[in-house]
Amino acid sequence: MNTNQIIENLKAKYPGENEYLQAVQEVLESVEDVYNQHPEFEKARIVERMVEPDRIFTFRVTWIDDKGQVQTNTGYRIQFNSAIGPYKGGIRFHRAVNPSMLKFLGFEQTFKNALTTLPMGGAKGGSDFDPVGKSDDEIMRFCQAFMLELWQCIGPDQDIPAGDVGCGGREIGYMYGMYKKLAREYNTGVLTGKGATWGGSILRPEATGFGALYFTQNLLHKAGKDIKGCTVAVSGFGNVAWGACLKATQLGAKVVAVSGPDGVCVIPDGITKEMIDYMPVMRTSNRNKVEDMYVKFPDKCSFVPGKKAWSVKCDIALPCAFQNELSAEDAKELKSNGTWCCCEVSNMGCQSDAIKYFQSNGVLFAPGKAVNAGGVATSGLEMTQNASHISWSGKEVDEKLHFIMDSIHDSCVKYGTQPDGTVDYVKGANIAGFMKVATAMLEQGII
Ligand code: GLU
Repeated sequence: MNTNQIIENLKAKYPGENEYLQAVQEVLESVEDVYNQHPEFEKARIVERMVEPDRIFTFRVTWIDDKGQVQTNTGYRIQFNSAIGPYKGGIRFHRAVNPSMLKFLGFEQTFKNALTTLPMGGAKGGSDFDPVGKSDDEIMRFCQAFMLELWQCIGPDQDIPAGDVGCGGREIGYMYGMYKKLAREYNTGVLTGKGATWGGSILRPEATGFGALYFTQNLLHKAGKDIKGCTVAVSGFGNVAWGACLKATQLGAKVVAVSGPDGVCVIPDGITKEMIDYMPVMRTSNRNKVEDMYVKFPDKCSFVPGKKAWSVKCDIALPCAFQNELSAEDAKELKSNGTWCCCEVSNMGCQSDAIKYFQSNGVLFAPGKAVNAGGVATSGLEMTQNASHISWSGKEVDEKLHFIMDSIHDSCVKYGTQPDGTVDYVKGANIAGFMKVATAMLEQGII
């Protein structure tokens, strides 16, 4: 494989699709050596086929706002790869959503899902709809209009969407309600992240954050450390950040910072249960302001406008918000403040230079596709429960999630251990995911 040539060709074909090109480059650089040991992959042009989505659906979404005005957005579903199972991946509602963003996310999802040990292909979808400032009624009308088109592309054995940034339990509920009306069947297997009383898995809301902390614990143990007593900085206050704060606190760490687009809340004594419980309220308010945490708990934290979580002194950094949210400058600031570990919980949360800086300056680093895979893995567990019309207890789901995160860590160690005994988690995760998908594609012939 000639990585540079493939990237140059993709750049010429998809100019300006920077996130997509960044994600492809990272994976290809990691797998190049292994790939070149398999001439059968090259003969079947596995890489050239793998970097292209199977298909992209684009549709108009028209809805009426609270003022009675007609609004139009663009909706997408990108079915990226179905080598190891039906298409699976979240729906993102954010004003910056475009094909590049969803292609990068669908590409990442393909390898992440392969890591989970469960049979799921990769997909992503969403819309440039901006939830900020929208009322609950507007969210409902938009979700219904979105499903009016999406429902024709999905199905429990075909493509199973879930939540992502801007799309949580509330939005999945509104979308499922509309799906049910259109399809005229109570087919819970078509979406995951549903409410616990109507087909959702217990612990799915917590799963991404919980899984991320189980993975972090494994990584620390491997490096001879423990999370107990560590200080942690978290970006974001959505579903993923919420689960991460909850589990980090349960494991004895102290979350000293939570940030948003408006700044950072610094919490010297560590986040409390009341503050964690307030995070979902902040998300569904659609205000998108972390300052609300300070307004609610002024005696527990201070608010620094315009600053990121990475400006706060901590042992462990957990990006939990958005892609490329941690730059090389941020990485340097963290290191100079004593940070020695960064586990990426958001998808591609760190810029490439930041990852290189961490890795060459002795900061333990693990990529999102391994760290955050507990979310989609628990979606896979939800699919199993739906298919067999049963509901597992929280204890059962938690045990399975823990087991899956341990397996993902083992895969990273297997494929990422370097001659000096350290683990390159980026390589490990990429090679493990790639080998599984590439082998399945090879065995299924040229299609
Ligand atoms: N959006 C989540 C992710 O990035 C979850 C996807 C799912 O559960 O299907 O993995």
